[in-house]
Amino acid sequence: MFHSLKRTALGILSIISFILSTILFYKIPYGHGAPAVFYADLVSSIIFSYNIAVFFAWVGFGMIFGIGMAALSIALVLLLNLRVGLPGHSALVLPFLLTAFFGFLYWRARNRLNDAYRLKMEKAGENINIISNGIEDSRKGIFSVEEKLKRYAVLKGVIDSFSSQLLFDDVTKLIMEKTNKTIGKPGRVLLFLVDTEKQELMLSASRGAERVTAKKGDLFDRWVLKNRKSLIVEDVVTDFRFSTDKQGDLKKIFRSLIATPLVSGDKVIGILRMDSARKVAYTQDDLRLLDIIADLGAISIENALLYARTQELAIIDSMTGLAVRRYFLERLHAEVKRTAMKKGKMSLVMLDIDHFKKYNDQFGHAAGDIILKHIAKTINSMIREGDIAARYGGEEIVIMLCGRSKNEAALEAEEIRKAVKESPIMLRRHSADVTVSMGVSGYPEDASSAEALIRLADERLYKAKAQGRDRVCSA
Ligand code: GH3
Ligand code: MG
Ligand code: MG
Repeated sequence: MFHSLKRTALGILSIISFILSTILFYKIPYGHGAPAVFYADLVSSIIFSYNIAVFFAWVGFGMIFGIGMAALSIALVLLLNLRVGLPGHSALVLPFLLTAFFGFLYWRARNRLNDAYRLKMEKAGENINIISNGIEDSRKGIFSVEEKLKRYAVLKGVIDSFSSQLLFDDVTKLIMEKTNKTIGKPGRVLLFLVDTEKQELMLSASRGAERVTAKKGDLFDRWVLKNRKSLIVEDVVTDFRFSTDKQGDLKKIFRSLIATPLVSGDKVIGILRMDSARKVAYTQDDLRLLDIIADLGAISIENALLYARTQELAIIDSMTGLAVRRYFLERLHAEVKRTAMKKGKMSLVMLDIDHFKKYNDQFGHAAGDIILKHIAKTINSMIREGDIAARYGGEEIVIMLCGRSKNEAALEAEEIRKAVKESPIMLRRHSADVTVSMGVSGYPEDASSAEALIRLADERLYKAKAQGRDRVCSA
């Protein structure tokens, strides 16, 4: 900027010198008989001034102007000389050539300097670019480290919260929430669990999905299940591993996905997956995080299932599938209290298998167990929701019927009696005609406490036995 200003100023000086020289040149009077030598000093000054114009033209405007100015000045000076009538025309040309030559030298030296300077500037520019790229890379590096740190902090939170969950539903909810938070990208989160009986996937929980149509998983989930490997698909349309006709349909729901198996021991127990409507929505880093969450999730799911199993074991009799006596008594007390409060009604049935010892003796203890299981199953299938059937003693079963009077309960007991009688059990190719006897008691008509209900039902059961068995006694 500064240099070009300076050059323009010099160029303008050149033009001013030229104009002044030319004005002076025309001001010289001639043809009045004055001796030519009289003008010699003035002519020298004009020539000097023209030379300045030539030099400044070179310096200010470069080669074309320099040569042009030199040619024009030489022509004008020769014309002047002729007009005034001074001798030595060729000698006058010499200073112009010298000035032009020096102007040229100066111009060339300056151009070279400029070129060298420009080259240096370019180099410096390049260096600046390299350094700023380096700074940008470092900044990205710092950003990604920060991002990683953030993610690992989230993961630590995941571990802490997983280890404090015992209930299955809470665990699956937590897996959804933590996957969403840890990956931190928009999209659906789906959790499928393997139904061990049917050996197929079942959707267990989802997040960010309005409606999941593929409740049993799609080809991607089945791939993960079959290969027991994590999967990343950047674009479902172009991935050659999954070329099917259905890709067009899938594209409408999601375009890219990550999925990973939930492994417990050597079994795949489920699949955790995240998908997005965008292409290339997830990175390998995201998949690694999903793997970690799936590993932690699998342990928590196993724990929750174990916990549920132990809870169940504590209240369910493993052989018959009926409730255990302790649990039944707890529930009976609570139900009596509840019924008393709302002034309702309820009943109790006590059942005992007739001549059970006989089957044991005849067919063996294992056959006896089969009968017991069969009868338990029959009862369990006939009671209503909210009712509880429990194994009270060896082959004694109690049933709590909520909201029904003694008479209603006696009718239902009669149904059970008939159902047992009419479903013979095959034992060693013999059909065993098993019958049961039952005693019924009701609240509030003949008892006002759980203990009294049990005692009365028991008494009536023995009455039924005494009266010949295979009957219901309610009074
Ligand atoms: P009753 O008609 O008078 O009830 O005759 P019963 O032979 O059924 O007599 P009771 O109810 O007193 O006998 C219970 C028998 O049931 C005693 C025991 O050997 C058998 N028992 C109890 N629990 C089980 C069990 O879990 N499995 C088997 N196989 N037998 C059991
Ligand atoms: Mg019996
Ligand atoms: Mg008995």
